[in-house]
Amino acid sequence: MKHIDWKHQVMKLGAAVLTAGLFTLSGTAPVHAAESGMKASYHGFFYGSGWGPVKEDNTLSTAPAGSYVTAMKATLTGQPEGMTGTIAYQVNLSGSGWLDWAENGAETGSAETEMPVEAIRVKLTGQLETNYDVYYSVLQTGEWTSWSKNEETAGVEGQGLRVDGFKISIVAKGGEVPPEQPAAKGIDPNRPMIALTFDDGPSTAVTTRILNSLEANGGRATFFMVGNRVPGTAGVVSRMAALGCEVGNHTYDHKYLTQMGDSEIRSNLGRTNANVANASGKTPILMRPTGGNYNSASLATLKSMGMPAIMWSIDTLDWKHKNPQTTINKVLSQVKDGDIILMHDIYGTTADAAEVLIPELTARGYQLVTVSEMAALRGGMAAGHTYSSFRP
Ligand code: ZN
Repeated sequence: MKHIDWKHQVMKLGAAVLTAGLFTLSGTAPVHAAESGMKASYHGFFYGSGWGPVKEDNTLSTAPAGSYVTAMKATLTGQPEGMTGTIAYQVNLSGSGWLDWAENGAETGSAETEMPVEAIRVKLTGQLETNYDVYYSVLQTGEWTSWSKNEETAGVEGQGLRVDGFKISIVAKGGEVPPEQPAAKGIDPNRPMIALTFDDGPSTAVTTRILNSLEANGGRATFFMVGNRVPGTAGVVSRMAALGCEVGNHTYDHKYLTQMGDSEIRSNLGRTNANVANASGKTPILMRPTGGNYNSASLATLKSMGMPAIMWSIDTLDWKHKNPQTTINKVLSQVKDGDIILMHDIYGTTADAAEVLIPELTARGYQLVTVSEMAALRGGMAAGHTYSSFRP
């Protein structure tokens, strides 16, 4: 058997991942394609680390930095009553080749080897096979492969390349291909991360200062924009997207969701999405309820529009006190992994605070990521639901 020094390879690849190019990420949100119905549930065994947390449909099961996948398990949730079949999967284990198919929660690969998985195949059996497609992808040499489906091979076998993570998604037969996950590149899923969010802008003067600081520190943020401000600030909006920041929707005119009916919410948010898409080339998927107000009717409308509602876990009240030091203290005194932090990019005093917070939070080890990036690594989001943090 060809001898491969995997520990050496691991160190090399680990370093490559850590120094990999920053943030070529798009702002698309990982809303589940299979909104209701059957989903895949799965996890990997990571060399030197153990079984990772169980992930559900189209979220990433990713090894810690420097580790890789040596075994996997997968099951289904929400399988239709009376429909026969299950999920089956097969791994190509370095040095052993393709192992036998395993199914419905059984382990394949090995939790007791240092040999990595090089490629995987997944399929559905029984009546499920004629009613659903299964899509899957692996993380290899720092990139997620494009989707493979229904028993195709995902990953390159036989060239000493290891699988560092995988994701699986089930869709109705012939249905839409699941959305690509924006996360992974340049983000270490095992290090703390937070999402800075800015509402009510953009403002050319203030937003530009925040973008400058983010760019200088290799961070990103999410901007929930008021649609009628966007045509006058198109250059700023386009730069947001170019820097990998996420463009979000904060209504067209800062009207409360609870003061609008279904059709008005649709047209109000729709006009905002159109303006942002015009300026940035990206259509917002996330919205932040103005004033933090929503009710079950407005959430039902958001659900039908494919939009989650993003709340927050730290409210700086920057708009009220307009004191940079107070904003800084509010964040630094309580910030923790998974926080969503609320600020407003229309006050110079908020830019003053952001210019301190962005480098300081980075120095404290927090990765400044977008809401969608953080969500993708921590359980995903569903349209019409509200989220105020994404804890590890
Ligand atoms: Zn607002």
